[in-house]
Amino acid sequence: MRFDIITIFPEILDSYLDETILARAKSLGLIEIYTHTPREFATDAHKSVDDKPYSGGAGMVMMFYPIAKTIEKIQIETSSLKTKILLMSPTGIQFSQKKAKVYAKECNHIILICGRYEGLDARLEKIVDEKVSIGPYVLAGGELPALVITEAVSRLIPGVLGKEASLAEESHNQPGYLEYPQYTRPEVVNWKGKEYKVPDVLLSGNHAEIEKWRKENAVQGE
Ligand code: SAM
Repeated sequence: MRFDIITIFPEILDSYLDETILARAKSLGLIEIYTHTPREFATDAHKSVDDKPYSGGAGMVMMFYPIAKTIEKIQIETSSLKTKILLMSPTGIQFSQKKAKVYAKECNHIILICGRYEGLDARLEKIVDEKVSIGPYVLAGGELPALVITEAVSRLIPGVLGKEASLAEESHNQPGYLEYPQYTRPEVVNWKGKEYKVPDVLLSGNHAEIEKWRKENAVQGE
């Protein structure tokens, strides 16, 4: 799977992409992640990629051409791949685990466009596949949403989580995800006058009973 992230702040993505499971997956050749700045296609001396909105009002809008030309540049390099172009937007379709599974299955290349300021020229919506929101709130930019989508999709690529975890993920065979409560040492914690114990069944060593308990206590996410 290849990810290309278009952002005016590539450096804020670097530290995250160079750590965590994403760095490991990159080093194993399971995923490729590239960042691109639309400033490469700016035409003035200040390398501007935003301008005032036609309708007036506060704030700036990201211009069509620097982003469209960045997409075109990426597509020239990736013409043999099955690409989805996603525009980060608080008014897009809600991203979910189900959606991550669809992307992981249906394509092997995702271009993610990060807006800033008051958003992007609306004509960019005509040249993307989907507008995607990571939740019903407004962030200052599309960089966090792009990282969220990149990580959620990458986790589903075989090998990224390590063999055991990814098999478990697949075996759920659910549209969303399944999670059960997990505990680690110590067996008993005391906090603010209360005692919290690990459920006895998890200490029993009885694998059939543990599996039954996990199923009964599993929580289904979307
Ligand atoms: N009124 C603008 C709009 O509706 O697009 C708000 C722009 S917001 C301040 C700047 C950028 O952050 C957006 O263009 C988008 O790329 C990104 N963004 C903000 N919230 C987001 C969310 N919940 N999901 C995805 N992207 C978001």
